[in-house]
Amino acid sequence: MTRRFEGDRLLVATHNQGKLEEISDLLTDYGVSVIGAAELGLPEPEETGTLFVENARIKAHAAAKATGLPALADDSGIEIDALDGAPGVYTADWAETGSGRDFVMAMTRAHDALRDRNAPEPWTARFCCTLVLAWPDGDDAVFPGVMEGRVVWPMRGDQGHGYDPIFVPNGYDLTFGEMDRWEKNRISHRADAFAKLVKGCFDR
Ligand code: IMP
Repeated sequence: MTRRFEGDRLLVATHNQGKLEEISDLLTDYGVSVIGAAELGLPEPEETGTLFVENARIKAHAAAKATGLPALADDSGIEIDALDGAPGVYTADWAETGSGRDFVMAMTRAHDALRDRNAPEPWTARFCCTLVLAWPDGDDAVFPGVMEGRVVWPMRGDQGHGYDPIFVPNGYDLTFGEMDRWEKNRISHRADAFAKLVKGCFDR
């Protein structure tokens, strides 16, 4: 039995405003408001894990320990089968330039790697999102979400963010980058993980 979240204010262990707003929208219906780690001046811990769940745990437990409040963290990325699951937990790192993130560069790197390996199409891949809700006493609950699909080239669409323009989810012809934002948010890896979180910890 998953432990319930009984409060009305949840700390979200992210410095990413977009993530915070998405999580806030999702939890409004449950009478829960959110507060971000940046608002509390919490430092960003180093993400030293090699699995999404490890990095989500690092972020959630660091915030819960620092504040004495339950904290939610998410870690996400894309796994491309023909690249042995890369970029995986390093999805955001592939876009780092030293002066901000460049996702066109990151997507080009993924395509170059597929071309260099002569990987046959379809280039099957999945977006993953792991949510961890950590309590200050060290307990936690893990909720993984997945959206299976394939990588396509060239990039298509200017909606969304990150690697959206090269990912076509199963059952669709449009990339996430071409898809209406609400449609994407209904079927995405994050929606999958959140549905499990809400069912486990927030449904009252
Ligand atoms: P994190 O903030 O360490 O979890 O980094 C996750 C990275 O994965 C982001 O920077 C995005 O590049 C990528 N990512 C995660 N979810 C999505 C998505 O829904 N669309 C496109 N890219 C995503």
